[in-house]
Amino acid sequence: MRRKLVVANRKMHGTIPGNKAFLEGLLERTKEYRDSEYAVCLPHPYLYQAQSILTGTPIAWGGQNMSRNDDGPYTGSVSARMLVEFGCGYVIIGHSERRLRGQDSDNSVGERFQVATRAGLKPIFCMGETLEEFEQGLTDLVTIRQLNAVIQQIGIKNLAKGVLAYEPIWAIGTGEAASPEHAQTILHFLRGYLILKDTEVGNNIRILYGGSLKAQNAAQLFGMPDIDGGLVGSASLNTEEFVEICQAANLSS
Ligand code: PEP
Repeated sequence: MRRKLVVANRKMHGTIPGNKAFLEGLLERTKEYRDSEYAVCLPHPYLYQAQSILTGTPIAWGGQNMSRNDDGPYTGSVSARMLVEFGCGYVIIGHSERRLRGQDSDNSVGERFQVATRAGLKPIFCMGETLEEFEQGLTDLVTIRQLNAVIQQIGIKNLAKGVLAYEPIWAIGTGEAASPEHAQTILHFLRGYLILKDTEVGNNIRILYGGSLKAQNAAQLFGMPDIDGGLVGSASLNTEEFVEICQAANLSS
């Protein structure tokens, strides 16, 4: 049985007092929603704050990227070991906002996946197609290409150490989420592909949906059999709305 997971991707937002209100509010308001799991991915400078507030609680935290390298002369980068030192359980890798700026490629995401899991982090591996690719009916091809690039580097069994997130680029930050039917079709296809490679991995791996997931559409999306939760950007900036999304996940667990 796959437990639902809701992850806040707070991107490059936040202040120390704002994070405090968000994290404490989330802890308080999700007390009764314990059938699902929750995590918050914050900008790196705020991970110490997350560690101080969330240690010993059921809410996990993580980074939004990490270097492929270990310690060394990489000015401006943060290693997997450093994220672990700040108590992170998760790290987002391959987000389209990085891929589109040329900061990540199919191959570099595979390397990050490997480095993250070796350090004991659970990567949240993002995949998804552009609007143009969607309109040309290329969603399957693009997501399988992204998935294969990682599997080739780490092997199918190691994929189980992470979480997948299907995030159509045309739905990110646009207010226009994929329909629950579209999201379900793609997730079902991806899961089926993985089952063919390894039944256990395919059946057990969590696949999240991300892209304009809000309080308004969460219940319908989470009601789909292959959607195991969500990666939430904009709506995670509002504590009340994020709590409602967590509640929707809990109700459908
Ligand atoms: C994201 O960037 O991962 C995301 C899902 O953003 P939003 O919810 O704002 O579409």
